[in-house]
Amino acid sequence: MKKVIVIGSGAGGAMAARMLARDFDVTVLEAGGEFKPLALPLDKLAMFRKTGLYFDERLIQLLLPSMRIDKQKEMIMVYGRGVGGTTTLATGNAVRADEGLKRIGICLDDEFDELSHELPVTTAHQRFWSQVTKKTFQVMQQMDLDPQPMPKFLRPGSCRLCGHCSIGCPSRAKWDARELLDGIRVEKDCRVTRIEISDNKAKKVHAVKGLKHLFFDADVVIVAAGGYGTPDVLRASGIDCQPTLFVDPVLCVAATMQGVKQNRQLLMPFVSRREKYIISPYMDWLSFFFNRSWRKPMDGIVSLMIKLADVEQGDVHKGKMEKLLTPLDHQRLAEAADICREILMRMGADKNDIFLGTLNAGHPGGMLPLTEAEASTLHSPLLPHNLYVCDASILPQSLGLPPMLTIMALAKRISKIIAANWK
Ligand SMILES: Cc1cc2nc3c(=O)[nH]c(=O)nc-3n(C[C@H](O)[C@H](O)[C@H](O)COP(=O)(O)OP(=O)(O)OC[C@H]3O[C@@H](n4cnc5c(N)ncnc54)[C@H](O)[C@@H]3O)c2cc1C
Ligand code: SF4
Repeated sequence: MKKVIVIGSGAGGAMAARMLARDFDVTVLEAGGEFKPLALPLDKLAMFRKTGLYFDERLIQLLLPSMRIDKQKEMIMVYGRGVGGTTTLATGNAVRADEGLKRIGICLDDEFDELSHELPVTTAHQRFWSQVTKKTFQVMQQMDLDPQPMPKFLRPGSCRLCGHCSIGCPSRAKWDARELLDGIRVEKDCRVTRIEISDNKAKKVHAVKGLKHLFFDADVVIVAAGGYGTPDVLRASGIDCQPTLFVDPVLCVAATMQGVKQNRQLLMPFVSRREKYIISPYMDWLSFFFNRSWRKPMDGIVSLMIKLADVEQGDVHKGKMEKLLTPLDHQRLAEAADICREILMRMGADKNDIFLGTLNAGHPGGMLPLTEAEASTLHSPLLPHNLYVCDASILPQSLGLPPMLTIMALAKRISKIIAANWK
């Protein structure tokens, strides 16, 4: 059997590994370890907020090692480093976001259809909505914002409504990419440093595991180290990427409302889609612990998330983001924040008691964007012919929408192309 090495076990890597395991000898190399959800109860952790213990967001890594934070002047980048990639930290939103792909001639209808049968995607969670969620939904309807229940990677019957979706689901009610890796060989804590390439062919993958240097022979290599990891792996292997990083910045707008318990609710239960951003209820744990304006009781905050499709401009170098929002990004964020303020005031919030969260982002991608010329091969001419990129890096534009489902649809199509050409 021919050997496939997959670098990264997130949305793209895990789906490619699952698909190719039928016909190839597949090994996944993953820089992080096994994912473990946050073990300590949030209410106990919240008691230490007043002590000044939570002064830097990077401290999260001590409690939740699979969550990584890169702090930059304007924004905080959140990403996953562990089996399942960032999908273990995801809120579970399952959204088709392929407008940009369609525009360059890539139609993934078959793959989205397959995914809808293979994964537990549902909108049947409305019966669990709390009073505050229902009220927010009504107000947004009255404002003609067209809120719609969010499709979720979820088994609603097992959901405990704990609101922990983005720090690890304790009951596995929320699906994540680890489920695709059952029965597949995964080398954990194994960070790929570079790919040896000669004669337009990827020959060996170099990695480090603890103090050991490892080498993996491969007939086909798939780079799926995420929008944050893939550019470094490619550049270390002599393949350049473009400074077209997008991150889908997130800003929460919140108000105090005593005892509403938005913290005990599925995160992002519904969504209003605007042209360049979405608005959705979201308890922002990052701000709750690390932003001084959020020193309120956990059950007395109503928070709305704005997720923006940012201008594709930025870079990653050696795991460090270089990204500043453009004036247009700021203008769109300000417009969305005004809408959120209006929603909160209609729900009864005091105008002077509305506060903002910490600007952060969790959807890095776009540094090896697919083009029209690559619509049938999904393979950049910059890559050796047996090396494919299969993650958010190949998305042609920022989405301002949850990308996992679309990345997995792309991974499926790329796997079919690999199976047809390399078996
Ligand atoms: C808090 C949060 C909530 C989110 N919620 C949602 C949501 O509800 N719905 C949605 O669609 N999206 C959501 N996202 C985004 C989504 O999780 C990511 O866009 C998606 O997982 C990206 O898939 P990927 O395959 O590109 O990379 P990832 O899933 O990030 O996987 C990349 C993997 O590669 C590994 N890796 C990196 N470098 C190396 C290396 N050198 N060697 C070996 N391995 C390496 C990493 O450790 C990681 O496991 C969320 C993100 C965050 C941060
Ligand atoms: S709210 Fe439901 S899906 Fe989210 S973490 Fe809790 S149990 Fe899991």
